[in-house]
Amino acid sequence: MKFFNGSMTLKICEAHDLKPTDCSTRHQIAKGALLIDPYISVDVDDNEVARTTTKTKTLTPVWNENFVTEVHNGRTIGLTVFHDAAIPPDDFVANCSIPFEEIKEKTNDLWVDLEPNGQIHIVLELQGSTSEEPPKERVFKEKEGLLNRRRGAMRRRVHQVNGHKFMATLLRQPTFCSLCRDFIWGLWNQGYQCQVCTCVVHKRCHKSIVTKCPGSKEDGSEEGPRVKINVPHRFSVHNYKRPTFCDHCGSLLYGIVKQGEQCGDCKINVHKRCKKNVANSCGINPKEFAKVIRDIGLTPDTRKKPSISTDSPNKDKQGRLTSPLPDLEKKKNGNKIPYMRSHTVASM
Ligand SMILES: [Zn+2]
Ligand SMILES: [Zn+2]
Ligand SMILES: [Zn+2]
Ligand SMILES: [Zn+2]
Repeated sequence: MKFFNGSMTLKICEAHDLKPTDCSTRHQIAKGALLIDPYISVDVDDNEVARTTTKTKTLTPVWNENFVTEVHNGRTIGLTVFHDAAIPPDDFVANCSIPFEEIKEKTNDLWVDLEPNGQIHIVLELQGSTSEEPPKERVFKEKEGLLNRRRGAMRRRVHQVNGHKFMATLLRQPTFCSLCRDFIWGLWNQGYQCQVCTCVVHKRCHKSIVTKCPGSKEDGSEEGPRVKINVPHRFSVHNYKRPTFCDHCGSLLYGIVKQGEQCGDCKINVHKRCKKNVANSCGINPKEFAKVIRDIGLTPDTRKKPSISTDSPNKDKQGRLTSPLPDLEKKKNGNKIPYMRSHTVASM
């Protein structure tokens, strides 16, 4: 893991192919091309350092806004797209993160893949130094700085585990944890809901989740020991005679008949809207499985993996923009940086 100290100049140019998440549209009746009012929150190691203005009713916002910020022992830059909601909290749309150690100390013109959807175009310039260890005497100063900054910034954090993007969520209806199956009690921000696949868990449970988020782009295949589960459920429409809760998102299956779908094998019950987001983990008790995983010493993957493209499908064809990435990245298979994955392992 490397640390960056110095000044960062960031230009947020534009984003493409944004899409409201399933989570933000799950109560909407009319699906389809919903437009959003996006803004970008920029953070360094989970502390917000900048925020763009909001663009209205678009999935292809153009900002061209510049930010300069001092970075002390920075490890990762995070970019999160939010929809500026009329009634707070704002909806998560997509995010990405870029470790400082992957950025050259000069101008970087980058297209970065967002998860679960979209790409963002940024220009990044770093002036300063990168070191293996954080300089000791600066650690203390840095902490004070962070506290000061935090006081002003109201911001929702994204907690990433196995591709799930959990955010503390105010639950409006009785909800059960999709990991331990217990009821989620509490009055404020009690649940952690994945903004991509809509599953809800306790805060205390979110780090134990073993299934990979179905909305995640990461294949996760070549990184270290990881348990793969791939047993699909066999869902069919079901009539429930008593109130039944969705085993995925934890809320009630509503209606008089055909309220949801049940798996013929493991008997879990889900909303029709939730079916596509259920992991292929038929027959696996998530709580017990999480315990087994812990016992054999594996931990869920909380790394955030960046994926930077050299080419935007839309832009390159028109020849308007090119992305002069460092040489290393260009040589192999187009749009993924091959060495990025192995390096991020060190962070854990
Ligand atoms: Zn998820
Ligand atoms: Zn739980
Ligand atoms: Zn559901
Ligand atoms: Zn099943």
